[in-house]
Amino acid sequence: MPIVRETPYFILQELSEGVFAAVAKPGQGAWSNSGFVDLGAELVVFDTFNTPSAAEELRRQAESLTGKKAAYVVNSHYHGDHVFGNQAFGDAVIVSTRTTREWFEEKNIMGDPEEEQKETAAYLTGLQNQISAAEPGIRRESLINQHLEMEKLLADLPRLKMVKPALVFESRLTIHGAERRVELHCFSGHTASDAIMYVPDAGVLFAGDLVTENLHVPVTDPPAFRAALEALAKLEAETLVPGHGNVGTKELLPPMAGYLDLLIDSSRGAASSGKTVEEFISAFQVPAEYHVWRGINGMERNLKTAYEFFALQK
Ligand SMILES: [Zn+2]
Repeated sequence: MPIVRETPYFILQELSEGVFAAVAKPGQGAWSNSGFVDLGAELVVFDTFNTPSAAEELRRQAESLTGKKAAYVVNSHYHGDHVFGNQAFGDAVIVSTRTTREWFEEKNIMGDPEEEQKETAAYLTGLQNQISAAEPGIRRESLINQHLEMEKLLADLPRLKMVKPALVFESRLTIHGAERRVELHCFSGHTASDAIMYVPDAGVLFAGDLVTENLHVPVTDPPAFRAALEALAKLEAETLVPGHGNVGTKELLPPMAGYLDLLIDSSRGAASSGKTVEEFISAFQVPAEYHVWRGINGMERNLKTAYEFFALQK
């Protein structure tokens, strides 16, 4: 896949004519992947990174490369690392599911700027302490990356604005352009609502955080997440852009499915056997293949949320 441009925040790859992925460079303020599609007369952008600075660079690159204007922006879900750059596209129509907009309103609240800066600075100090105490290895590297990304956010905080989606949909939305269409499909599992963008004529799937590469991505509803992966496998997508990690193919799906299967089988069994969550987690042997996955909480957080999910179902 040809790299068309490299910026301080991300690497742009053209996946098919007029279909671009913006792959985040670690620790530089983008934090998650984004992308954009030339619809013929205008662009649709998928996700806006963690900082306005990274998003402004995305807009500059997208519009200069194609000579077209960003008319639509899709927010895959409400997490900050995918939506805090929305303000760079203030004149575009920002689209999400209804549920994502509700969570956005509830969770993404910008308080008093000075207070926000103090809180973020305190969080950074806490991270620094964890880094100092951590053994060398993947968890320490994840903490360092988290620290770098949060430093970039802190630098942008004085001008950060929360720009909410304006147009909402329930389960499906198609955007028809002059030359091609994109489809938005709603699933859940990573959050209460996770949208993907599918470009049928190019066979490209922008998956948001339903697909990540070698990452203990947060799971809130394990069976729903597993079902979403099943549905994504059925789309005729040759190229898959994950929320975090490198652009790939459907080969990204089986490791995710295996991870979900393990979470589901082990935590459902533990929750119904009467084991406490502490007993379950302390006895759990994390398979070696997941020791190299990134994430500041390793597998532990997902074991806990999966256990609690199934304990509630009893
Ligand atoms: Zn996320």
